[in-house]
Amino acid sequence: MTRVLVLNCGSSSLKYRLFDGADTVAKGLVERIGESGGDAADHLTALQRIMAETDLDGLSAVGHRVVHGGPEFTAATVIDDGVVERIEALIPLAPLHQPAALSGIAVARKLLPAVPQVAVFDTAFHATIPPEGYTWAIDADLAERWQIRRYGFHGTSHAYVARRTAEVLGRPPAETNVITLHLGNGASACAVEGGRSVATSMGLSPLDGLVMGTRSGAIDPTVIFHLHRVAGLPLDEIETSLTRHGGLLGLTGENDLRAVLSRRAHGDAKATLAFDVYTRRIREYVGSYLAVLGRVDAITFTAGVGENSAVVRAASLAGLEPLGIAVDPERNEAAAAIISPDGTRTAVCVVPTDEELEIADQSRAALGLSRP
Ligand code: ADP
Repeated sequence: MTRVLVLNCGSSSLKYRLFDGADTVAKGLVERIGESGGDAADHLTALQRIMAETDLDGLSAVGHRVVHGGPEFTAATVIDDGVVERIEALIPLAPLHQPAALSGIAVARKLLPAVPQVAVFDTAFHATIPPEGYTWAIDADLAERWQIRRYGFHGTSHAYVARRTAEVLGRPPAETNVITLHLGNGASACAVEGGRSVATSMGLSPLDGLVMGTRSGAIDPTVIFHLHRVAGLPLDEIETSLTRHGGLLGLTGENDLRAVLSRRAHGDAKATLAFDVYTRRIREYVGSYLAVLGRVDAITFTAGVGENSAVVRAASLAGLEPLGIAVDPERNEAAAAIISPDGTRTAVCVVPTDEELEIADQSRAALGLSRP
């Protein structure tokens, strides 16, 4: 049997999907955990509920999405007590996300003690970024002591989408260079060289890089000193401002891109500026990764915005024809797998991501199982 249960634990939610091979046989979301009127009191009762409603017979693995793998977890890892301790040690690097994943691991080990558990890290795919790509030019002793470097996130999505892009192009993944653009509520870009990540836009945390629903993306760090010293804001408030009240929300009051697009269509100035900032930032990263990769076979859009918004795809790559990059309006509108005109040097693709399937496959692979 190769049935795999994938768990994605947030601080107040538990998302699950049960796979049989590549088929989804059950899925759902337990929400507002621990809140009054929520679906469950804690992660333990949430998983008990899922187990009561779902036939988990013949389960060969539980795959856990873990946000931060730090410098040491460079691949999906079978969980034992030592691994749990090492994931716990990474809490300071991801204080907002890591505790929830650990709670999911603890309750799954307790309720499904006979089933192997695997941790699949958002950071692991980026372990192949070379030192010159992950090192910031700050005091080297401080960086080493506090594990400060670019880690990158959305790794399961970038890995899956880059591989699928090679399939779409009919090329071997090991010989295909792709710039993947994961544009969801969170957003990141990745340069993938022959199936390996060599650059990505998120950093120590998922705050860096592209403009997101509520996160600022890259800013000059001096903004933080200025808000602290001159505006007198405490550090926690600045963090909340940049991570939860920034991005599209900060610029327009809306974090959902659909609302921004509809206001822009009615001529709203803030929404127009936000759209221009959002798409220009994508173009800046595309340009940067063209220079990192040299030869780029495809640029691929994925996730909620990337898969659904033709206008974002077109604006993000506008004006790049001299670089051999173009979008065919009809193919783009239809969200075809390849939306560039025939004969361009770099294909432009739309590939739906499937992070849970990738987590299931990586969990099986970590246990030496293959998908039937
Ligand atoms: P998450 O990162 O939470 O998994 P998704 O990948 O589902 O999020 O992406 C959510 C984003 O996708 C939202 O900003 C939403 O506005 C955007 N989105 C979804 N459908 C469309 C659409 N048809 N056009 C434009 N944006 C869309």
